[in-house]
Amino acid sequence: MDDFTLAYDFFDPASEGLREALTSTGNGYFCTRGTAEWQDKGSLHYPGTYVHGGYNRETTIFGGRPVWNEDLVNLPNWLVLKLRIEGEDAIRLDNVEVLDYRHTYDIRSALVQRELRFRDRAGRETSLRSRRFVSMAHSHQAGIEWTLVPENWSGRVEVVTALDARVTNQIVARYRELEGRHLNPVSLRTFGPDVIALKVQTRQSDIYVAEAARARVFHDDGPIDVERDLYQMEDYIQQVLAFDVEQNRPARVEKMIALFTSRDNAITEPLVAAGRHVLRYPDFGGALAEHESAWTELWDICDVRLPREPRAQLLLRLHVAHVLQVCSRHTARHDAGVPARGLNGEAYRGHVFWDELYVYPFLNLRLPEITRALLLYRYRRLTEARAAAVEAGYRGAMFPWQSGSDGTEETQAIHLNPVSGQWEPDHSRNQRHVNAAIFYNVWQYYQATDDLEFLRDYGAELMLEITRFWASIAHYNPERQRYEIHGVMGPDEFHERYPGAEHAGLRNNAYTNAMVAWIATIAPQVLDLLPTSRCAALRARLDVTDEELRTWEDMSRRMYVPFHDDVISQFEGYAALEELDWDHYRATYPNIQRLDRILKAEGKDPNRFKVAKQADAVMLFFLFGHDELRALFERLGYSYDSDLVRRTIDYYDRRTSHGSTLSFVTYAGVLAGLDPPSSWDRFMAALESDVSDVQGETTKEGIHMGVMSGTLDLLQRSYVGSSITDDVLRFEPRLLNRLDGVAFSMRFRGTSLQVSIEGDELTVLAQTEGFRGPMRVGVGDEVRELDPGSGCVFPLPAQASSVRR
Ligand code: BGC
Repeated sequence: MDDFTLAYDFFDPASEGLREALTSTGNGYFCTRGTAEWQDKGSLHYPGTYVHGGYNRETTIFGGRPVWNEDLVNLPNWLVLKLRIEGEDAIRLDNVEVLDYRHTYDIRSALVQRELRFRDRAGRETSLRSRRFVSMAHSHQAGIEWTLVPENWSGRVEVVTALDARVTNQIVARYRELEGRHLNPVSLRTFGPDVIALKVQTRQSDIYVAEAARARVFHDDGPIDVERDLYQMEDYIQQVLAFDVEQNRPARVEKMIALFTSRDNAITEPLVAAGRHVLRYPDFGGALAEHESAWTELWDICDVRLPREPRAQLLLRLHVAHVLQVCSRHTARHDAGVPARGLNGEAYRGHVFWDELYVYPFLNLRLPEITRALLLYRYRRLTEARAAAVEAGYRGAMFPWQSGSDGTEETQAIHLNPVSGQWEPDHSRNQRHVNAAIFYNVWQYYQATDDLEFLRDYGAELMLEITRFWASIAHYNPERQRYEIHGVMGPDEFHERYPGAEHAGLRNNAYTNAMVAWIATIAPQVLDLLPTSRCAALRARLDVTDEELRTWEDMSRRMYVPFHDDVISQFEGYAALEELDWDHYRATYPNIQRLDRILKAEGKDPNRFKVAKQADAVMLFFLFGHDELRALFERLGYSYDSDLVRRTIDYYDRRTSHGSTLSFVTYAGVLAGLDPPSSWDRFMAALESDVSDVQGETTKEGIHMGVMSGTLDLLQRSYVGSSITDDVLRFEPRLLNRLDGVAFSMRFRGTSLQVSIEGDELTVLAQTEGFRGPMRVGVGDEVRELDPGSGCVFPLPAQASSVRR
C-alpha cells in the first residue's frame, strides 16, 4: 500500500459492502459504488448509482398509516459485464476457484480496479483485470475496461453487457419495509451497432434518467469484429458480444457509458443526449487520460502532505478523493446540496443535514466556487423555509433538519430501532440548530473569500431571514431578563424531551442559544457590509424594521445560557438527569456508541440520563476561537475562562458515546490545544471512521461526508491552527512532532498560498497568479504582508513544538 492506494488482497464476503462504498467512483455529478461488474445485487453486493438531486417520494402503507419518504434514487445499473467461457455459466467468484484476487482504489485518479485469476470447472485458467472510472473531466461519462487473458486455453467467449433498470432502493436494512421502487421504465433503444440505451422516469418526481453504453472489443493490434446479439425487456437491455480468444493474448473489452437526466442543461432530452455523447467518446485509454489530468489539477489544489504519519496520510488523501467525488466543480453546475452520506449509498436517503458545517471549511479554502454553489441549494429553498416558519408560528426562514428535493422537512416521523425491532417516534426535526449552521456557513464562506457579491445577492437575505426566525422562536423571560428558546433539540440526538414529558423539545439548549447570540451580533454587521442601496432595498423588501434590529441587538446581549456545576449545561435541566453506569454498559455491550438503541431495547428512556450521542455544548469551542467565544460570553454577561472550557469539555467527554462520527472530529478539534495526545487519538478515530467502519456496518450504506471533510479541516484549522481574524490569516500550529513536513495549498480571498511546516518553521508562499492583496498572514503577534510571488518564514514558538508523542 502506498499513500495513494486503498488495496484489498483477498475477497472477504463480510467486508464487500464496506469496500463497495469505499471504492465508489464519482465526479460530483454522479457516483457509482465499487461493486464488481460481474456480480448481481444480493446479500453481499449492491450496485448503486446516484445523481445529485435525483430524489423521488413514495408512500408506504404501514399498519394502515401512510408513511411518506423521499429517497435519493438508485439509478439503473450500468456496470453489468459478465463473462461466459465456451457457453458456460457466467463467471462469478462463487462458481470458480479464485487463484488471485486484488481489489484496489487508486486514490490519485479515483480508479477502481479488480485483478482476478481463476480456474473454472473445466480447468481453464484465466486472468481478468477490470478498471473503472467516473470521469472528472466530463461529468456524464464513465468507463470500464476489462483485460482478459486466457492463460492455458484458447476458445470462444461471450461478454454480456447490459443496462439494468430493475433496481430498487434497498441497501439499508432498516428501510426495507418502506417502499423502495422509484423508477418506471420508459424506453429502450440502440444507437448504431455498438450502443445500447435506456430511459426511465422516477415515479413521483418525474425525472427522466437515461444511460447509454458503448461496448467494443480490442486485441493489441486494434478493434476486433464481434458477433452481437441484442436482448431487451421493458426495463433491461443487453448485448452479448461473442468472440474468439487465444492463449496468452490479451483481449480488451471497453464499456463507455453516458448518463443524463432531464434536469441537465444543454440537452434536448436525456436519451438522445446519452446516445449522442457516448458515440463521440474516445476509447477508454483516451478518456482515462483526460480524467487523470482533471484529477491532477484537483490534487494540485487539494493535496495535503503529512509525511511523518503514513496511516493518517493515506486516509487524509482518501478523504480528499471522496469529498471531491461528491462535491466537485461539476456539482456547482447543478442544484445540489451535500448528502450527509455522499452519493455512495442510501443511508439517510441522500438527505442534506447540518453536516455541511463540517464539509465546507476544507472547500472554502481551496475550491470556494463549490461551496458557493452548495450554499445556493439553501438559497433556492428559502421560500419553502419561509413557509415552514409561518406554518410553525414563526417568522423568517426555518430550514428543515433533513432537506431533499424542494426543501420541505424530510425527517421521518418514525424510525426503526434495529436493536429492538420496534418503530419509534423520531423527533429529530426539532434540531432547529441547522439554521444556525446555515448562517455560520454563509459567514465562513464570506470570511474565506471576501465574496461580497454573494453576500449582496444571496447570503445576506439568507442570514437576515434566519436571524428573524431565531428572534421569533425566542421569547423574553422577564424574570430572568433573558431571551429563551424552548421546544428544540441540540445536536445530541439522545435527548428529545424531558423524562416523562408528554411533548418533545427541550428548554434552552446552550449550543443553540449561544449560536443565536452570535447570529444576533453578526446580522447587523452583514447589513453594514452591503452597498447602501442594496441594504435599503433588502430591508425594505423584507421589512426589517429598526425595532427588529434593536431586538437582535438585545438578544446578542441577553440570550440565556444555562450552567451547572461550573460547566455549561447542555440544556436547562440537564443537571437533574441521572448518571449512567457507563462501566456496566461498556462491560455488557461490545459497542455502546448507539447507546440510545441499547437503552430503548432495555426499556429505558435515554432522555433520563446524563448521556450524549455527540458533541453538543462542546460544539461552541469547535466553531469559535477562544477570543471570539470569550467576547460572546462576556457580551452576554457570563464569565468565560479557560477553566470553563476545560471543565465543560471534560464533563461531556465522560458522558458522550460518540454515536455520530462527527463527534470524533469535534472532540479532536477542541482537545487540540488542551490535550494533544488525546486530540490525536480522536483524530485517528475520525480518520478510521469509514475505512474501518467504526460505527459497525454503517459505511456500507454510505460514507460520512462530515467526518471525511472534517478531518481535512482538523489538520488545517486545529493542528496547523489556521484562523481568520481582522482580515489576517493566522496560524497557531500544534502537535509539531506529528506535523513536521506538513504541506498544503490554500486559497485565501482569491490568493493561492502554499503552507508548510519544517522543523520549527512555518512557511507561507503566495502565488503570483490570481494574487489579490493585501495579503496578511500571522503567527502569534507577528503579522506580515505578502507580495505576489513572495513568501515568509515564521519561527514557531517553542511551546508549540514541546508536545511529544
Ligand atoms: C447525527 C447528526 C447528523 C446525521 C447525518 C446523525 O447520526 O447525529 O448530527 O447530522 O447523522 O450525518
